[in-house]
Amino acid sequence: LSADAQAVVDEIEENDVDFLRLQFTDILGTVKNVAVPATQAEKAFTEGIYFDGSSIEGFVRIQESDMRLTPDPSTFAILPWRDGRSARLICDVVNTSTGEPFEGDPRTILKDAIDRANEMGYKVNAAPEPEFFLFEEDEDGRATTKTNDVGGYFDLAPKDLASDVRRDIIYGLEQMDFEIEASHHEVAEGQHEINFEYDDALTTADNVGTFRTVVRAIAAQHDLHATFMPKPIPKINGSGMHTHISLFTEDGENAFHDDDDEFNLSSTAHSFLQGILEHAPALAAVTNPTVNSYKRLVPGYEAPVYIAWSDRNRSALIRKPAARVPAASRIEARFPDPSCNPYLALAALIHAGLEGIENDLEAPDPVRENIYEFDEEKRKEYGIETLPSNLGEAIDALEEDEVVQNALGEHVYEKFVEAKRQEYDEYRIDVSQWELDQYLEKF
Ligand code: GLU
Ligand code: MG
Ligand code: MG
Repeated sequence: LSADAQAVVDEIEENDVDFLRLQFTDILGTVKNVAVPATQAEKAFTEGIYFDGSSIEGFVRIQESDMRLTPDPSTFAILPWRDGRSARLICDVVNTSTGEPFEGDPRTILKDAIDRANEMGYKVNAAPEPEFFLFEEDEDGRATTKTNDVGGYFDLAPKDLASDVRRDIIYGLEQMDFEIEASHHEVAEGQHEINFEYDDALTTADNVGTFRTVVRAIAAQHDLHATFMPKPIPKINGSGMHTHISLFTEDGENAFHDDDDEFNLSSTAHSFLQGILEHAPALAAVTNPTVNSYKRLVPGYEAPVYIAWSDRNRSALIRKPAARVPAASRIEARFPDPSCNPYLALAALIHAGLEGIENDLEAPDPVRENIYEFDEEKRKEYGIETLPSNLGEAIDALEEDEVVQNALGEHVYEKFVEAKRQEYDEYRIDVSQWELDQYLEKF
């Protein structure tokens, strides 16, 4: 056993952990797990745990279904809501016939993106800001869209009845080794945001999965349903997952910072952000991968619609947040939402950005006005394109964009497009309540 693995085995014994949940994610970003008795820990590290990959969304066909999970010891954490008797380990998926990392494992895809950055001399840091709603459950314990509070942005108790729940969620996250920076009530009723410390890109993607699991589990203990659905209620703010990114050099310098630049962004940062802007329509298929995602990306609710960047306004796709110290200079991609697969989303964003650096792209001037208020003519004058207006258009854009396709790799790209086309087609042929309300009696 490696020293790291041995330390985990010791910790399991010291804490009387009974069960280990070996976790990984499918292509759609759903966290899956195989539970094994804690006595299997050593074997899990030395031999891996075998499972049937054919039952996992987007993994493999029946005839080639044997997959192996190899736990990453650095991800060990005791789950706070099981009396401390269960722990989890996040795993890499290995193809048993080749012994190589499985190309359908989203964690592998993100590692490939990070490797590309490393080869160019960069370390990638990222911080996501997942927003979510807390809704009441009905008598059968099913989720409703009724909020249990009437707070607004940064409101304090007594209006913010959900602050108790949020406090418990934060305790839960802290027990899972999260460093919580801030938590606040968001703009909409029942909407919340809890910010955690940035980390390297892989840890950050792992953290998003854990965050969603903890938030949902602890909300459920309060008989509330936490949802990361991007736009659960029409005509009020939806939930984004703004993603802050910066690149650091091998000697720990922030490659995105430049004292002399008007925005304190280096030319590397400008190129990186332009890479994202150029590939935004295809990226959207990955960062905003549900039918519902596109209900959030409409003017007027602090979510982006137009492909531009800004050093201040929130209607832009990318924002440069104010930074107090050079190390904090970064860009904020405002389009991703929390229904995305965090591994694939980060991988695609990183590749698009690196492509920008490799091609020395130059970013246009930031747009400081509220782009929501621009008419088409003004957008033309500024050269501002729009994001896809639905999932179908986003998949079309992905099918045209080799950079984002390569970011996903052939296997994931094909499975992803297949699943998403089907999802969009099902939606397209459905007849919605809105249509019935509009037309049933009129015609
Ligand atoms: N909820 C907004 C969104 O959909 C973001 C609000 C904020 O700036 O935090 O992205
Ligand atoms: Mg927010
Ligand atoms: Mg933000």
